[in-house]
Amino acid sequence: MLIRLSQLFFRTLREDPVDAEVASHRLLVRAGYIRRAAPGIYSWLPLGLRVLAKVEQVVREEMAAAGAQEVHFPALLPREPYEATGRWTEYGPNIFRLKDRKGGDYLLAPTHEEMFTLLVKDLYSSYKDLPLALYQIQTKYRDEARPRAGLIRGREFIMKDAYSFDVDDAGLAVSYQSQRDAYERIFSRLGLEYVIVAATSGAMGGSRSEEFLTPTAIGEDTFVRSPGGYAANVEAVTTVVPDAVPFDDAPAAHVEDTPDTPTIDTLVAVANERFARPDRPWAAADTLKNVVLALVHPTGERELLVVGLPGDREVDLKRLEASVAPAEVEAAGDADFAAHPELVRGYLGPGVLGPNVPVAEGAGDTARTSVRYLLDPRVVVGTRWITGANEHGKHVFDLVAGRDFTADGTVEAAEVRAGDPAPDGSGPLELARGIEIGHIFALGRKYAQALGLTVLDQNGKAQVVTMGSYGVGVTRVLAALAEANNDERGLAWPAHVAPAHVHVVATGKDPAVFEAADALATELSSRGVEVLYDDRPGKVSPGVKFADAELLGVPLVVVVGRGLAEGVVEVRPRVGGTTEQVPVAEAADRVSALVDALLAV
Ligand code: ATP
Ligand code: MG
Repeated sequence: MLIRLSQLFFRTLREDPVDAEVASHRLLVRAGYIRRAAPGIYSWLPLGLRVLAKVEQVVREEMAAAGAQEVHFPALLPREPYEATGRWTEYGPNIFRLKDRKGGDYLLAPTHEEMFTLLVKDLYSSYKDLPLALYQIQTKYRDEARPRAGLIRGREFIMKDAYSFDVDDAGLAVSYQSQRDAYERIFSRLGLEYVIVAATSGAMGGSRSEEFLTPTAIGEDTFVRSPGGYAANVEAVTTVVPDAVPFDDAPAAHVEDTPDTPTIDTLVAVANERFARPDRPWAAADTLKNVVLALVHPTGERELLVVGLPGDREVDLKRLEASVAPAEVEAAGDADFAAHPELVRGYLGPGVLGPNVPVAEGAGDTARTSVRYLLDPRVVVGTRWITGANEHGKHVFDLVAGRDFTADGTVEAAEVRAGDPAPDGSGPLELARGIEIGHIFALGRKYAQALGLTVLDQNGKAQVVTMGSYGVGVTRVLAALAEANNDERGLAWPAHVAPAHVHVVATGKDPAVFEAADALATELSSRGVEVLYDDRPGKVSPGVKFADAELLGVPLVVVVGRGLAEGVVEVRPRVGGTTEQVPVAEAADRVSALVDALLAV
């Protein structure tokens, strides 16, 4: 393969696109791989398509090795199957919906569980037909609330989605493992570092689910690891609940004046100033913070929720969202507080929250709100708190959980912090950030049940099929590769996904240089090396050509230029390694050998 830059449809940019926050986005646009068509929606240019095809090829080979067969579904789908599984509603504003000329409802599929289930139902009816694994590499649509970082969170993106069909749980376990193994091979072959973490299934449903994350500071997901091998997305971490505390000798709750203390910091300062206790100073962890949030249900209905948690922890909106899925979470706004005057901003406490049980006198007990109140699991019976007294400038001290207040339940919403204990007792957690590049689900029977996918077993009895679903974000993987392989000068692709193996640059105006470069490029190409050849005429300066070569990120750069007079060309790796002066006559051999070495890893 030989691509001449003089003919190639591409344009490199010296300036970063204004909306680009992360390296992959900046560089993929600047190097002419993609162009933005609309927020979170991109067009693919020739070089981008070449990289995409290589990533897809690795996915295809490993799917085939795992025994999955490729099919292809439309993106435009009718409403009914999604109605049958409840997802037409559950996806809420996250799906693109449209109507045909007759008024029929359609959607642009965010994922295809329903359609695969129906296809198998159409064609198969016996246990002998199973197990079965099917997949597609297909364009998905999600009207993401916050499309960002270019391809990393798009509203149109390419996913590999595979689905497994088994008669029983043991079969599902085998299918799940086989996809999991395939994912390990895919990401290893792509040279993408990955961590497998326990995950929540969200609106997807199902029993077991794991995510593949690639660690990077720009990732939107936070995950934890313990020395004993526990690994989970923070969304899936469950709090280690402390034992209840005896409270027989706890003093009665008492309300105190704490003027100008709408925040935890100001409250702790005033508590220490005015109500110092002998043993140790008050700290944020002694306060119970009650945060008002709004759940937006898929139907659009807005429901307020108060989360009570130790004052030294913030609410992690993503963790809360995982707990209340499919609802989305927003901070409460002025209008919410206006509609609920009983929720006194900055001084809210259990006196007005929670179920209507008698609380201690003087505990700031007033008319109860109808807003649901959920507590962090650490707020166990007997714990003693400073918290809002539901009046401006007042807080209640020594308010004891279980004695003075209760709630409507508990919720996993508090941030997970480094040093928190792993739920399985395997040690303190450390935190890191990552990008979700794959997600596998043991779905179980939810979709088969809803859509009536059964097969006859050995005894002629109908059995509901059990399913798994397995996604790789193909375009997100490409961005993650760009994110992991770049420097200040541009992209630096690993050889097996690079748009070409070698970038030959002819510099200057000397026709002899162009002849030699042309001959080398042609020779390499005839040996199976993929060559990008910068044959642009002499008016494109060497500086521009070198800068473009660095921006495009092909792993080997060969410069045919001034050295030709001494009979050599320059061969240099895009990153690392050393520049070699190679005699022209040996150049093809040397470069092919270097390419082979790069591809062998
Ligand atoms: P996220 O939590 O990042 O929104 P998700 O859990 O909704 O992703 P899945 O439904 O598990 O995503 O989809 C499977 C894979 O598709 C994900 O692991 C991810 O790699 C990719 N993916 C999901 N949403 C997007 C998107 N908006 N843009 C690009 N890739 C995406
Ligand atoms: Mg996911």
